[in-house]
Amino acid sequence: MRQLSHESYPQTSQVPPWSDIDTVMFDMDGTLLDLHFDNYFWQDFLPVAWARARGVDEQTASSKLHAMYSELRGTLNWYCLDFWTEQLDMDITRLKHEVKHKIAIRPNVVDLLVKLRQLHKRILLITNAHPDSLNLKLEHTGIGQYFDNTISSHLLHKAKENHGFWTALKELEHYDPQRTLLIDDSLPVLRQARSEGIRHLFGIYQPDSQQDPQLCEEFPQIVDFEHIMPAHHPDAAGDRDGSHE
Ligand SMILES: [Mg+2]
Repeated sequence: MRQLSHESYPQTSQVPPWSDIDTVMFDMDGTLLDLHFDNYFWQDFLPVAWARARGVDEQTASSKLHAMYSELRGTLNWYCLDFWTEQLDMDITRLKHEVKHKIAIRPNVVDLLVKLRQLHKRILLITNAHPDSLNLKLEHTGIGQYFDNTISSHLLHKAKENHGFWTALKELEHYDPQRTLLIDDSLPVLRQARSEGIRHLFGIYQPDSQQDPQLCEEFPQIVDFEHIMPAHHPDAAGDRDGSHE
């Protein structure tokens, strides 16, 4: 991981008010998992594979792909493996399997999930990842066992940064926006969730361990999940967390 200079470190390190929170929603890529896998796949691996399949040089393939990425970013198609499989005439799911050894869980994720389970929080994985990509990552990392529900935005036919997503989500999974925490590395997603009433919102300081951190003053940012770990609850192994009831 890149060393952080003192000046670039976030000024404040907030902790979510855990006793005011019943439901914790996690994004997957860049939040629970290192975004390096996705950046490597789309920026480096796919352009080379596509250039070979097409018999064109890598520079041409890369420019063409990046033009398509710019056009589609923020739409559901951007996240849709079926769309890319058809557009590029390549089996994207199979190609992802070829580099799955690069999928990595970010530090202290499992410790936090275990702790939240002990506190009887409802834990949801809410991702823009296509169901095939979601399954690949859950199989490879084993983190699926910690969630009460895992939902791909493809089920709702909207991306998380699209208007109405968080309201529509209630049809699949009831939650109280006032008592919900969303942790997501995407600024447009956090803004959309805020506009639809989700109260507790945290970003991620360095979603890709191989790239520079993203500084954001609009939402508190998590540097390491260890910093937001809830204190041990004395009744954790017994009854429901009664601290807010
Ligand atoms: Mg993300």
